[in-house]
Amino acid sequence: MTVLPIIQLGAPILRQEARSVSLEELKSSECQNFIDDLVETMRAAHGAGLAANQVAHPVRICVVEVQANNPRYPYKPQIPLRIMVNPVVVPIGDTTFLNYEGCLSVPNLRGQVYRYQHVKLTYQDRQGASHEEEVIGVTAGTYQHELDHLDGKLFLDRVHDTKSLCTWDNFEAHHKTQFVSYITAMQQRLGLL
Ligand code: ZN
Repeated sequence: MTVLPIIQLGAPILRQEARSVSLEELKSSECQNFIDDLVETMRAAHGAGLAANQVAHPVRICVVEVQANNPRYPYKPQIPLRIMVNPVVVPIGDTTFLNYEGCLSVPNLRGQVYRYQHVKLTYQDRQGASHEEEVIGVTAGTYQHELDHLDGKLFLDRVHDTKSLCTWDNFEAHHKTQFVSYITAMQQRLGLL
């Protein structure tokens, strides 16, 4: 497996809509090897997720995984590895929450973004089998961030108040405590804690 370079803000490929993946393409050894590399790259960078176009493959594949004590997002609930091919996310209801996001393609910047609190996610796994699941709370925000990448969108496009933009050090110093209490209260309300 190979750790791939992660494309950074400003590269046109991040702004292009990724194309769908056919079952035949998905089953090819090239595509299966690419999926392994995508997972490896996400893990090496300690990301909560990674989309294929972030490593210069403009196809609709993304991966999400949060293990315990992720150094970038220690407060995020754990998510077992999900490999999603041609994923679609649809909001359920219109309740949103203000997520404080960062991105492996946007160095040293975080900002507040509204995300739906409850979504329905449909996708194919790496074998091509279809899955559907509902996701609530902070984890719903993680999926919405990754799926945005496949449409050429970055969290920066959705930043609600540009005054919330901050470096990672300043997030730790000035915003983390308040954000963690806000999302902890939400997770408790949703019965997730
Ligand atoms: Zn991202």
